[in-house]
Amino acid sequence: MRVLVTGSAGFIGYHLGRRLLAEGHAVTGLDAFSDYYDVGLKRARHADLANRPGFTPVEGRLETPGLLRDLLTGMKPEIVVHLAAQAGVRYSLENPQAYADSNLTGSFNLLEAVRANPVRHLLLASTSSAYGGNTALPFRETDRAVSPLTFYAATKLAMEAMAHSYSHLFGIPTTAFRFFTVYGPWGRPDMALFLFTRKILAGEPIEVFAGGAAERDFTYIDDLVEAVRRLVDAVPPLPGEGEPVGPEDTLSPSAAYRLVNIGGGRPVRLDAMIDTLERALGRPAERILKPLPPGDVPRTQASTELLRRLVGAVPETPITTGIPAFVTWYRDYYAAR
Ligand code: NAD
Repeated sequence: MRVLVTGSAGFIGYHLGRRLLAEGHAVTGLDAFSDYYDVGLKRARHADLANRPGFTPVEGRLETPGLLRDLLTGMKPEIVVHLAAQAGVRYSLENPQAYADSNLTGSFNLLEAVRANPVRHLLLASTSSAYGGNTALPFRETDRAVSPLTFYAATKLAMEAMAHSYSHLFGIPTTAFRFFTVYGPWGRPDMALFLFTRKILAGEPIEVFAGGAAERDFTYIDDLVEAVRRLVDAVPPLPGEGEPVGPEDTLSPSAAYRLVNIGGGRPVRLDAMIDTLERALGRPAERILKPLPPGDVPRTQASTELLRRLVGAVPETPITTGIPAFVTWYRDYYAAR
């Protein structure tokens, strides 16, 4: 397959790119190397992909007029996996413009490019944050009471809605994922596990929100990549070929637009996550307890029913395995620099 992965220098894009290349697919990876976090880490991920046969790197921004259209016209991908975004819940309170540019304008440009160059399957990354704070647990794809608490969540909900309409209007088989707190080797420096690891090793205190009682549905990167990879092949049929398309059909395996949670469904308390990290590092953390910041939700939990229905049971790596794997990578990566 010819696959375009946007955000290929990002945490998830890098891992998905590796997986697709290992299977022998031709992967074009687009990334802008935005400076939201350590650009050196993004360059290292892309350099690693570039060492593997079948990879074509492209540096550019989604918002650049004509860039995506020309790229798709030239490479004619069968599959597009759209992961590039301004991610992060808290930063959206500081710099909403970055979210409007990448997640709204950028995603719109991608949809227009796909409309002009039809693909077999378009897959896009949304977030558990889209559920917001008022949703009953576990979060289900059919929940209507979504309440975006941050502009990040609002831009991702808007992206989902844009993709749903394009899928419906132009017959683009589309799957939107809602990812739940993904972690693992080569992870994101702005996320709690990475931040805590750096601070504990530097002997600095860590800030623990909601007194450690916040719960997150931590999803190990390899499990997420396995789910995404299987969903790439689980193409929704075109409208007219299967069941009728509409919001009621988001749970139907034959809808042309699908929304699918990717998470383990087993939330972990933040203080239990830190206990596991302390054991993996062999060092205690100095914890400063803080209230939950604005925009953060107290707990997340994915309903995994639809995911299992579509692609079967996906491995669920526990944090007692996943966190030590992250720590091993972290020590090796920074020891070499
Ligand atoms: P990441 O920040 O590591 O990767 C995103 C990549 O997109 C970065 O390399 C960045 O340089 C690139 N990018 C940003 N704006 C761009 C633009 N305008 N043009 C081109 N490239 C651009 O994030 P990630 O953790 O790999 O997340 C991938 C996707 O999954 C994102 O859409 C994110 O919102 C979503 N997501 C991630 C998580 C998680 O826990 N990691 C959870 C929910 C949703």
